[in-house]
Amino acid sequence: MSEALTAKRVRVCGIVQGVGFRPFIFQLAEERHLHGHVANTSSGVDIHVEGEPSQIEAFIDAISAQAPPLAQITTIESRRVAPGPCSEFKIIPSRQEEGRSTLISPDVSICADCLNELRDPQDRRFGYPFINCTNCGPRYTIIDDVPYDRPKTSMRHFRMCPACQTEYDNPRDRRFHAQPNACDDCGPHVALEVPGGDVRQGAEAVTATARLLADGKIVAIKGLGGYHLAVDATNDAAVARLRRRKQREEKPLALMAPDLETIRTFAHLDADEVEVLASPQRPIVLLRKRRPNTIAPAVSPRNAWFGVMLPYAPLHYVLLAHGFTALVMTSGNLSEEPIAIANGDARERLAPIADALLVHDREILLRCDDSIVRKTDGVTRFLRRARGFVPVPVFLRRRQPSVLACGAELKNTVCLLKENRAFVSQHIGDLENLATYAFFQATIDHLQRILDITPEILACDMHPDYLSTRYARERDGLPLVQVQHHHAHVVSTMAENHLEGQVIGLAFDGTGYGPDGTVWGGEVLIAEAGAYERAAYLTPVPMPGSAAAIKEPWRMAVSYLAHTFDDRFYDLDIPFLATVERRRAEVLVTMGRQGLNAPLTSSLGRLFDGIAALIGLRHQVAFEGQAAMELEMTIAAEDAGLYDYGWKTVDASRRIEIAPIIEGVVADLARGVSGARISRRFHATLSALFTALCDELRSQTGIDRVALSGGVFQNAVFSTELARRLEQSGFRVYTQRLVPANDGGLSLGQAVAAAAIWSRQA
Ligand code: ZN
Ligand code: ZN
Ligand code: FE
Repeated sequence: MSEALTAKRVRVCGIVQGVGFRPFIFQLAEERHLHGHVANTSSGVDIHVEGEPSQIEAFIDAISAQAPPLAQITTIESRRVAPGPCSEFKIIPSRQEEGRSTLISPDVSICADCLNELRDPQDRRFGYPFINCTNCGPRYTIIDDVPYDRPKTSMRHFRMCPACQTEYDNPRDRRFHAQPNACDDCGPHVALEVPGGDVRQGAEAVTATARLLADGKIVAIKGLGGYHLAVDATNDAAVARLRRRKQREEKPLALMAPDLETIRTFAHLDADEVEVLASPQRPIVLLRKRRPNTIAPAVSPRNAWFGVMLPYAPLHYVLLAHGFTALVMTSGNLSEEPIAIANGDARERLAPIADALLVHDREILLRCDDSIVRKTDGVTRFLRRARGFVPVPVFLRRRQPSVLACGAELKNTVCLLKENRAFVSQHIGDLENLATYAFFQATIDHLQRILDITPEILACDMHPDYLSTRYARERDGLPLVQVQHHHAHVVSTMAENHLEGQVIGLAFDGTGYGPDGTVWGGEVLIAEAGAYERAAYLTPVPMPGSAAAIKEPWRMAVSYLAHTFDDRFYDLDIPFLATVERRRAEVLVTMGRQGLNAPLTSSLGRLFDGIAALIGLRHQVAFEGQAAMELEMTIAAEDAGLYDYGWKTVDASRRIEIAPIIEGVVADLARGVSGARISRRFHATLSALFTALCDELRSQTGIDRVALSGGVFQNAVFSTELARRLEQSGFRVYTQRLVPANDGGLSLGQAVAAAAIWSRQA
């Protein structure tokens, strides 16, 4: 080496462990004839490198330019140090440090190299359903603690055979320190359990599973983050049986298909959708149905969409190779319970549903459902964020105190803040049963441990009866900040878009606790992280029967009619009234007038439901948002004009009138205008209304940034049209891309709002 020998210390932070980063560094150093060493630390990767200065600079540049596929670098820092006595480049053991803050990789799909080996009869892992390498496989769901090393994963029970150990020890091998590394000789195995039959092992188990599925049987299959219930998606009777046994009436069931060409036979695919389907995260993607198709009608009844994913675990590839067009792969649970992850639990809970179980002995330490996305205008939007994405943090604009936010009641997630990172948990579910509540608690404990976060502040919703609120109240010794639901929605959008100061926040959803004792959900807020004002809201109307009004949108339709026409509505000549018994309608109206089990709501979600019922789409729903979704799906393509709209100023706030919209819809119905055209007019009216309202607010406040959040924005037609109109009026519009717009993204806003509210009070 030349005389100008120098040395540098390089620290790399981000997702740099368990993703093949050290062998990558090792090879980069060797190529440039550099000496030194690399080690995992609790906060990332630490490199000492010596050699010619130009080679060292090239080496540092290459770190970010050529990083391994699963790595996500957040910072690289380097400084000059004194050269030491290094005669080669070495990978040295992990070092534990104070203040752990390494990021852990999510679980990702099998990589192309492993897939080739899986299909190669000459390879020693041919057909082995747990093949993986440093570029692919399970991570988040098999980790107990950090740093990420084999003894801290559920692979600790498997001792590597000499061949696997050699790969694991060789920095030039793709499996160098691949913690889940295994083969058929030394690793996990599958077994098929049929009640009253023999247990079959290994390849035979997979073949027998495929045969059962082809025969129309339901098989519970253990995957990466939990069990699926699988059935041949082209067999209508089998799919219908699954629905009955699972007590799932109409919610669409997810499909897994072997490849893109097969998906094209039953769904429309554009280039954007192909990209997200084939990404290593492999989410379920909502795709427009192609008609006719061979998929059973029971998969996704009365719906224009299929939820489809490509295989992601090697086991899926091996199974789907048996010639299926698609398998239904729905979560392994009974209706709203959490998915089963342990074999014992699956045998117990899934026995009444499944005809057989395909189990394996690699333990899942933390449950993680499939993620669900929809591609709208080239942007991927989450409906559910879990496998493949968690625990990648949302990076915030500035450092925050450590906060634990407990999230909403439905579609719950929790969020942990630390420094400038917000870790939103995987989808936990609806906190309506003890099993889900236990999962909620386990997720909090697990995330606190693997992220090494000790919260200083707790955040929760204002709703006194949410289980998440009760959990926060019962956790001793920490200050608690209760954040209004729609404020949290708006701050969630602000946080992921790095917005500070004030915005106009449009928070539209089904229900959220309002501090005035009404149910909020159609809120226009002037908001900043630590405060908000309610600038406008939909005129509150009664929800007769409270929760029953959510399940039965016809009740809302009656309520809007009574609000608009008083008792005159019984005489209206519209088809809807012919389907409603007058006596039942009268009971609802009385409940509303007397305030008997009929809370007032300003919810926009309920207005969508009510309109859907009025035009005859449905009287009852099997899941929340179903009626609104169908209203979106029926929409006519051509412009149909606008209904009248307006608002009144009440106590320094604006009360948006609903009556003119209902009058317009009723007039259209009386004239026999189609539901498709009414839906079009309704959507267009809302976009015009809220744009005009934002205009007025801008002229008063000077604020020209609008943040959109809430479950209503899952309606792609509405969110796209509203954003376009606002932009045409000169607003800057911000939406949710990193977390769901529904309550799944609420914990992020709760956490950031609580931090700001706390610092104002302090
Ligand atoms: Zn791989
Ligand atoms: Zn082995
Ligand atoms: Fe909400």
